[in-house]
Amino acid sequence: LDGQYDPDNIFAKILRGELPCVKVYEDAHVLAFMDIFPQAPGHVLVVPREAARNALEMTDGALQAAILRVKRIANAVKSALRPDGIILTQFNGAPAGQTVFHVHFHIIPRQDGVALGA
Ligand code: 5GP
Repeated sequence: LDGQYDPDNIFAKILRGELPCVKVYEDAHVLAFMDIFPQAPGHVLVVPREAARNALEMTDGALQAAILRVKRIANAVKSALRPDGIILTQFNGAPAGQTVFHVHFHIIPRQDGVALGA
């Protein structure tokens, strides 16, 4: 969980516009885009603009703003895709499953009877 924030991580580059993404939402607090290896159709990532490795290192205000946007974007995904369920999750630290070390939230639509990754 501890360590230095790397300003050249892949999501930092996407936030700066140095790498492309399929954008679904943006404002002063977050950028949301499609996951390049979706676990299910409609898998969206919400990336806070704050330079933090994980959620535990975020300032309270930035975390509050991000979580509110996760909720709003998840509701937009719900309206658009009519899934049977939606996973909202995020991972902190490599042993927890984190692979990109700029804090981000997953929005993963779920359909009855369809396995993750299918
Ligand atoms: P985590 O760190 O929470 O385990 O997951 C990182 C997520 O970012 C993965 O779901 C992976 O598919 C996604 N990802 C990794 N690199 C890129 C990229 O360059 N573009 C996009 N859109 N998604 C990425």
